Amino acid sequence: MSALLETISRHWGYDSFRPLQQDAMQAALDRRDSLVVMPTGGGKSLCYQVPAVMRGEVTLVVSPLISLMKDQVDGLLACGVVAAQMNSSLTSLEQRGVEKDLMEGKIRLLFASPERLAMPSFRELLKRAGVKTFAIDEAHCISHWGHDFRPEYRQLRSLRQHFPDASVHAYTATATQQVRRDIAEQLALRDPLVLVGDFDRPNLTYRVLPRVDEQKQILDVVARHKDEAGIIYCTRRKDVDSLSEQLRKRGIDAVAYHAGMSQEERRAAQDAFTAEKCDLVVATVAFGMGIDRSNVRYILHTAMPKSIEHYQQETGRAGRDSLEAECVLLYSGADVVLWKSMIDRGGEEIDPDPRYREAAVRHLNDIDRYCAGTVCRHRALVEYFGQRYESPNCNACDICLGETEDVPEALVVAQKIVSCVYRVGQAFGVGHVISVLRGEETEKVRDRGHDRLSTYGLLKGHGRNEVRDWIYQLVAQGFLAQTDDQYPVLRLTNEARGVMRGEAAIRLRQPIVTKKGAGKAPKKQFGESWEGVDRSLFDVLRTWRREEAQERGVPPYVIFSDRTLREIARVRPTTLVAMREVYGVGDAKLEEFGRKVLSLLAGVD
Ligand code: ADP
Ligand code: ZN
Repeated sequence: MSALLETISRHWGYDSFRPLQQDAMQAALDRRDSLVVMPTGGGKSLCYQVPAVMRGEVTLVVSPLISLMKDQVDGLLACGVVAAQMNSSLTSLEQRGVEKDLMEGKIRLLFASPERLAMPSFRELLKRAGVKTFAIDEAHCISHWGHDFRPEYRQLRSLRQHFPDASVHAYTATATQQVRRDIAEQLALRDPLVLVGDFDRPNLTYRVLPRVDEQKQILDVVARHKDEAGIIYCTRRKDVDSLSEQLRKRGIDAVAYHAGMSQEERRAAQDAFTAEKCDLVVATVAFGMGIDRSNVRYILHTAMPKSIEHYQQETGRAGRDSLEAECVLLYSGADVVLWKSMIDRGGEEIDPDPRYREAAVRHLNDIDRYCAGTVCRHRALVEYFGQRYESPNCNACDICLGETEDVPEALVVAQKIVSCVYRVGQAFGVGHVISVLRGEETEKVRDRGHDRLSTYGLLKGHGRNEVRDWIYQLVAQGFLAQTDDQYPVLRLTNEARGVMRGEAAIRLRQPIVTKKGAGKAPKKQFGESWEGVDRSLFDVLRTWRREEAQERGVPPYVIFSDRTLREIARVRPTTLVAMREVYGVGDAKLEEFGRKVLSLLAGVD
């Protein structure tokens, strides 16, 4: 076994590398600068942790959030690796303790924020301690072009000057070519080894569903993941508040999270989720960074996010333990209109700098195309990040699983809609056009005399949301356009003429309606991960883990991951030797928890 693998096995209890890990670790050992791009859950942290342990020297890890650092330190300590954080959450006595350990060469990984690194006194300390290796986590935060720019990361530009002999290693989960170049330039990386991982997340099942009955669709997803961890993302803070309240009224224990809440409230929500005291968070995009809970089983977007990068990052929080997870996005063509108006108004979630407007609109159009698209979701995402996707069928998305079907006679449906838009003088929004098509007897319809139009009632019998979805699909395909006004109005495009002449190739999709209760459960591609697992034993272990974690004041995943618990519940080890064979059980954890787990197993029949 290679020395790297031996270290991984001893401390982490894993028996193989994830893709690119070996090369990334070797670069750190060789002190060659590197830029490592791997999807969330790809195993970036091990890339700098293992070399630090092997070399017996300290690596300084730059991390964006103080809240993140403690969990990372706890996780390492539980694996028998000496780690510490240096930040304002420590008392001065604690800080001196860390300094002492550092000077004595005890610490392998020291975590600090970019602001801390900008302090001359801290840099002096690092120099005295002989720090020669820097790992920059979430490195895309340094780039203007990224979707998550953090000004304080800019201070890292001087790192090279202050530590000319050190090697610098950057890690990120999201990077297009442009961002990648920017990171290398800003950090002044010298001939870096650039490693870009496979962006596909095969254990995630993606679904993009037309948002036809939001309430019910949300409840369906939550219900089929009962007792499992999930995150629901909403666009606006007020949506977060109302949805989380609605869920609680239905007896579902959901906590809210957005930037409008106080620091303490947010902290409490995050802690409850991380400690597995609560399994469902309803949040804006503000929630997520620093959430290391690896057993998130579903991510639900109630509306379209503002970029594919955001979508990739948010869905990336599901299934980090590489077990199966589901990502559902409820989509309406109206979402892009809402986002554009928020960008123009400079809403709370929007970066106010006008330079970003152009990039923001481009990002929006990309994700809109993804949502309205009819190609395999895995393929579309992977190709967006400039990679090839070989498999013709992923078996893990709504398209490949055959969960949508063509609307019969799409051309006729499109003709009815287009001519209605024309008949109302291209002067009304989606809502009114729907009313006319469905033959509704509203005041507005009667006042305008639109009940006398030849298109009145042409789509009688179809639901409002159904018709709305078709209209937006026509917008996405360029047959109709929506004005950019405060009250957007539907117009015909040049392509609409082809529709009227019956010459356009129109394809409209709709979800296949299954019989009540039948075939509703998502097909589990990764079903084998539950195979042979005694579920009730898994629950017993989970409860034990939660109590153990609470006692120690650490998040449960620091004790054992879900994957480890499932394996224990599958093989039911009876000896310490067998226990050490289990995924995720290294020497330190065997010693700490081995006997407890064995006696727990012995007591359950
Ligand atoms: P990232 O930072 O890339 O999102 P992490 O470093 O948090 O991912 O790793 C995700 C999970 O995968 C963690 O639980 C980690 O311990 C686990 N992991 C990392 N490397 C391996 C490996 N070689 N074998 C098995 N599990 C691994
Ligand atoms: Zn697919």
